[in-house]
Amino acid sequence: QINLGNNVLEEIPPVLKHLSCLNKLYLYGNKISHLPPEVLEGLPNLELLNVNHNRIKVIPAEIKRLCSLKSISVTDNHLQQIPSELGLLKSLTEINFTNNKLTQIPQQLYSLPQLRKLYLARNNLTELPEFQFLTLEELFFEGNSLVPFTLMESIQEKEVFSLKELSARLTLQQSTNKLSVVSRALPAYPELQDMLSHWGQCALCSQPFLTTWLECVQFINTRKHMGMKSSQSVPVRVLLCSYDCFNRDDHQYYGLVRL
Ligand SMILES: [Zn+2]
Repeated sequence: QINLGNNVLEEIPPVLKHLSCLNKLYLYGNKISHLPPEVLEGLPNLELLNVNHNRIKVIPAEIKRLCSLKSISVTDNHLQQIPSELGLLKSLTEINFTNNKLTQIPQQLYSLPQLRKLYLARNNLTELPEFQFLTLEELFFEGNSLVPFTLMESIQEKEVFSLKELSARLTLQQSTNKLSVVSRALPAYPELQDMLSHWGQCALCSQPFLTTWLECVQFINTRKHMGMKSSQSVPVRVLLCSYDCFNRDDHQYYGLVRL
């Protein structure tokens, strides 16, 4: 075993490649930005690799040389991808990539027969792993970007607004007309003006509301609507004034349900 944790190493010392009997290697809490392939190739008996809290962006394909590896831990780094070669390490029982920048799980990961613990919390993943191919005992996946794909039809009962909300809406509507009695009277009521300044507008009917609204999402394509390179559907928040508007069938807004 070697523990070089909590030092200020910027590189993995190349001399480690001669430790062909090495079983466990701890390099957490350094400033390492890459895993040199030549070191990986010299460690055929390594069972545990821990490089938590470093600056690693890429795990090279040569990771497949660690043919005895059972546990790999790369938490708190800058990983954007999991190399598909990880799927060749059939002895892996534990993978920990918590707090990185992962957006995808490669299919090859599902062919790891021994994998029992998979930690992928706090990444940018949008889909759950395909459990049916794995015999997992532990999965940590909190703090990602999951959105369920199951869409359901829903018609909601009309809500009853409070008197305050009803009068606020009427006042807000009237105040857009400069000649209305409300518009002319408002300057005499600064507290009321202040309260009404937090109004919102319905995405469907454009009518104003004050404190009662319905939170929905619409799905926006990152390439088409935001000019980004990657094409992904992302949910964007939309507010509606009432179930009257929500129940209309001429829109693409989705309500949120907690199951
Ligand atoms: Zn509306």
